[in-house]
Amino acid sequence: MAAADDGERDEIRRSVREFVEREVLPVCDDLDNRDQEIPLPVIGKMAELGYFGLIFPAEYGGMGLDTVAMAIVTEELSRGWLSVGSVMTRMLITGSLIMAAGTEEQKRKWLPRIASGEVLTAAAFTEPDVGSDTASMKLRAEKRDGQYRLTGEKTWCTFANRAHVLTVLARTDPEARPKHKGLSILLVEKNPGDGFSPPALAGSPIPTIGYKGMRSYSLQFDGYPCAVDNLLGGEEGKGFYQLMATYEYARIQTAARAVGVAQASLDAALKYSQERIQFDRPIADFQVIRHKLAHAVTEIEAARRLCYYAAEMKDTGKRCDLEAGMAKAFAAEMAERVTSEMLQVFGGYGYSREYPAQRYWRDARVFRIFEGTSEIQYEVIAKRILGGK
Ligand SMILES: Cc1cc2nc3c(=O)[nH]c(=O)nc-3n(C[C@H](O)[C@H](O)[C@H](O)COP(=O)(O)OP(=O)(O)OC[C@H]3O[C@@H](n4cnc5c(N)ncnc54)[C@H](O)[C@@H]3O)c2cc1C
Repeated sequence: MAAADDGERDEIRRSVREFVEREVLPVCDDLDNRDQEIPLPVIGKMAELGYFGLIFPAEYGGMGLDTVAMAIVTEELSRGWLSVGSVMTRMLITGSLIMAAGTEEQKRKWLPRIASGEVLTAAAFTEPDVGSDTASMKLRAEKRDGQYRLTGEKTWCTFANRAHVLTVLARTDPEARPKHKGLSILLVEKNPGDGFSPPALAGSPIPTIGYKGMRSYSLQFDGYPCAVDNLLGGEEGKGFYQLMATYEYARIQTAARAVGVAQASLDAALKYSQERIQFDRPIADFQVIRHKLAHAVTEIEAARRLCYYAAEMKDTGKRCDLEAGMAKAFAAEMAERVTSEMLQVFGGYGYSREYPAQRYWRDARVFRIFEGTSEIQYEVIAKRILGGK
């Protein structure tokens, strides 16, 4: 892994910003307002620029960059449109699982294809009856006639339609006790497209209030096949541990997404507050508005530093579930507060689809929910400071 110095980090930030200004900002508000997904050519360009394999070692087709660089790229993409920063999350989750737990053969087979965008992935962990309580996942994977057959349901699988591979947490041993020892991760191949392949694999999109550039699906599996070679790490019963080990990356990346969205809302409010005239002066002259902006920039910077701190710890190879949890929880709540206050700066226009202030606010609401709810993050933090209790 190459640790980028400050100059390289500035250059990475500048180049991602340029990409966002050229490819994302001209289209994202219109697409968001019309409930449309990110155009596939934009995803193709992200792959070409190496965003999907940022942290994969060069020998597996990646860029070999560190976690801080990954956070910077994520932040800048999300500053354009949360969904764009979040496309990367899918490849990061599957890629980091394979990097950490895959067999050598799996690394050689999948990582270069994920890095190049040839294989797009989605994470299928959550189920209709089981969300935070990961150990209780029910979807069954049974070995029959030399392959796994998956039966059960998943929900909130974002990007499932466009993915070539679903990274599925499945129960391979229903008798195992404690029950988390019966879980395994399978790399389940499918054809991309909204049609899926019912009845073996059916999917339907879930209408949402934000996060519009990607669709989240509820999925029904009825004997859907998966090759035995696609069992992550080649050993059953390890799925729970494999997933926990990669939560740190996903949480740092989610904190970076929250920082990006909050920064975009501040940028927009800064501009508007100097242009909007009331009582014969720009509203930025009113102390209450100035202080809203000052609070926002302070909170964003605090979240950004916490995110980079967790990323730096990750790069030293130290355990950082506490720091990643703090960064994710703090940044999520910060983004909700900041985007709401920045919408307020716009007055009535903030509530209108003509301005993106409402998009940032709708998008920011999801941070406290996905990648482990805030309540779960605080449990992780509390356990660490209370010595496991
Ligand atoms: C837009 C969106 C996209 C998503 N994308 C994906 C995806 O791609 N893949 C995927 O697998 N999942 C995805 N999710 C699902 C997401 O990860 C879950 O919603 C989340 O983990 C919470 O699970 P749940 O919704 O079942 O809530 P529950 O676990 O049922 O929780 C309900 C409430 O109870 C609280 N709670 C639960 N347990 C505890 C506890 N022990 N202590 C204190 N409070 C607790 C929670 O914090 C929450 O407030 C997505 C969700 C959304 C909204």
